[in-house]
Amino acid sequence: MTPLEFDQKHLWHPYTNVTKPGRTFVVAESEGVHITLEDGTRLIDAMSSWWCMMHGHKHPVITRAIHDQLDTLPHVMFGGLTHAPAVDLGRKLLEITPESLTRIFYCDSGSVSVEVAMKMAVQYQHALGFAGRSQFATVRSGYHGDTWKAMSVCDPHTGMHHLFQGAMSVQHFVSRPPIRINDDWIDDPARNGLAELRQVLETGRERIAAFILEPIVQGTGGMYFYHPEYLNQARAICDELGILLIFDEIATGFGRTGELFATDFCKVEPDIICLGKGLTGGHISFAATMTNDRVAQGIGGGNPGIFMHGPTYMGNPLACAAAKASLDILTGQDWRGRVCEIADQMRVELAPARDLPNVADLRVLGAIGVIEMKHRVSADAAHMLAKEMGVFLRPFGTNIYTMPPFITSPDQLSEITAGMLRLAREL
Ligand SMILES: *Cc1c(COP(=O)(O)O)cnc(C)c1O
Repeated sequence: MTPLEFDQKHLWHPYTNVTKPGRTFVVAESEGVHITLEDGTRLIDAMSSWWCMMHGHKHPVITRAIHDQLDTLPHVMFGGLTHAPAVDLGRKLLEITPESLTRIFYCDSGSVSVEVAMKMAVQYQHALGFAGRSQFATVRSGYHGDTWKAMSVCDPHTGMHHLFQGAMSVQHFVSRPPIRINDDWIDDPARNGLAELRQVLETGRERIAAFILEPIVQGTGGMYFYHPEYLNQARAICDELGILLIFDEIATGFGRTGELFATDFCKVEPDIICLGKGLTGGHISFAATMTNDRVAQGIGGGNPGIFMHGPTYMGNPLACAAAKASLDILTGQDWRGRVCEIADQMRVELAPARDLPNVADLRVLGAIGVIEMKHRVSADAAHMLAKEMGVFLRPFGTNIYTMPPFITSPDQLSEITAGMLRLAREL
């Protein structure tokens, strides 16, 4: 059996039918913006490998940091022990994240960081004497991960709630924020979504621990960009009702939107933030949940006081070292200028998509470019067509999109946009 035959017979891939495997390429190696397939074909990774690999593949500084860490302390349990990589990364995170977030919980993956955030909210409410507040409010077309609690606050349709009915926690959904990021804010609660939010939160206030959402950019749930004023005013409503506010910045963190964090578009800060994906520059799975003193003190002062979570690989030194290196690379360069250039070039080069008959919308924010089609696009067909153009693109639903590595050169970016236009024309 060739590796591909073995793979197709035995290995499960994300969101696939294991008995009817889709089109799969065997990757031999990766470097910079490129992934090289077994047959020698080099493809530009326009996905940053699911939005993680922001400085490109196999970055010499990140791989060196991992190698060096491997030679001193590859792993040690975090219960009762700590180490320099965890502390150094912590200092760096405090430096760059919204000011009020001072307490850091390291964990393994984005979904787990969402679980941790939701648990923090419930434990906080419990500590305050609100044991009934164990449910969550969220907006439609969100995405927060694939574990149970995270899945329960994903969009009820694309999150396939009907499939898991009975096993899914009851949550409270409101419409996605209706005003887009570049449109003028409308100060009418009936039209800006806030009347509905207030109504749902007021009705559920005895049962709702927190309002959780992706700030500014809804990722997997539809690649939709909305107005920051929604978040400013949502903060006020949450405060009034004693409901915590959780921002899932797993996709938006670390410069992707043109701000270091999407929270930076707002005048307010959340109580809890989830970080993942780009945290290690895509080199090792890692995530973090950060919270403010109020929530930390609340949990700590309650009964039992201890926070009930502790993954085996919590604070893994290799991951901490990779993350510290990645964040140093990010803040050591003019990331804002770079993301701005990527955005400007995408706006110009993707503009012809507007005139295509099957295109519903075109959106660019920071280093995120989206062509929304009027119909669903087959990922398999897209793979083959994009491969001919030397690009790796994996659309989902109706969206043909790119989140290129920040190191993508103007010429490489032109190859990506050409690939996207071809997909929009031919699929
Ligand atoms: C990818 C993603 C997650 C889940 O992260 P995993 O590392 O895949 O578990 C959660 N929230 C958002 C916004 C994401 O984009």
